[in-house]
Amino acid sequence: MTQLLNDVLLIDQSEAGRLEFNPQEIDLNQFCRDLIDEMQISVPNHKIAWNSENNCLNAWMDEKLLRQILSNLLSNAIKYSPLGGIVYFELICTSQSAIFRVQDAGIGIPLWEQAHLFDSFYRATNVGTISGTGLGLAIILKSIDLHSGLIAVESEIGVGTTFTVTLPLNQIG
Ligand code: ATP
Ligand code: MG
Repeated sequence: MTQLLNDVLLIDQSEAGRLEFNPQEIDLNQFCRDLIDEMQISVPNHKIAWNSENNCLNAWMDEKLLRQILSNLLSNAIKYSPLGGIVYFELICTSQSAIFRVQDAGIGIPLWEQAHLFDSFYRATNVGTISGTGLGLAIILKSIDLHSGLIAVESEIGVGTTFTVTLPLNQIG
């Protein structure tokens, strides 16, 4: 309930243009590893498999918003995949951008519903008894917009889902 209220408040704030964006220099590899360690404790029946190709230098991002983006993507990947499943989490940096990829082998998302996933309260028809409010991806999208980033989804029913988030390393240039 508290989580739901927090999520609604966050969406509200962002729609009023009042969601704060406070970028600071951040060690992305360390940030991701700490987040995984923290999340892995509460999901002993799933494995978060981490891979990072290189070190990302000079990243300027808002830590609070980045945490919203990555923790919501990881918790979705865990929630919508079977116990014992592996969630692959990868970070790749180019000279301009950080690319975060979260991949699961879970229930997948029907193609015709994929365009609606970022609407507040939208949930796909195949969620069955898995609980949720449909706000996570709406919050992710607002947080990505503030970073001038992009999100893409690839998914197939019964095969799995991959979300790819691309954020500029440093919007100031
Ligand atoms: P919550 O507000 O608690 O996050 P939620 O998980 O239902 O609830 P979103 O995170 O916004 O809401 O996701 C919206 C919908 O997108 C989900 O209800 C589900 O149908 C679909 N979805 C998102 N991620 C995945 C995934 N990894 N695998 C399958 N379906 C997904
Ligand atoms: Mg969610």
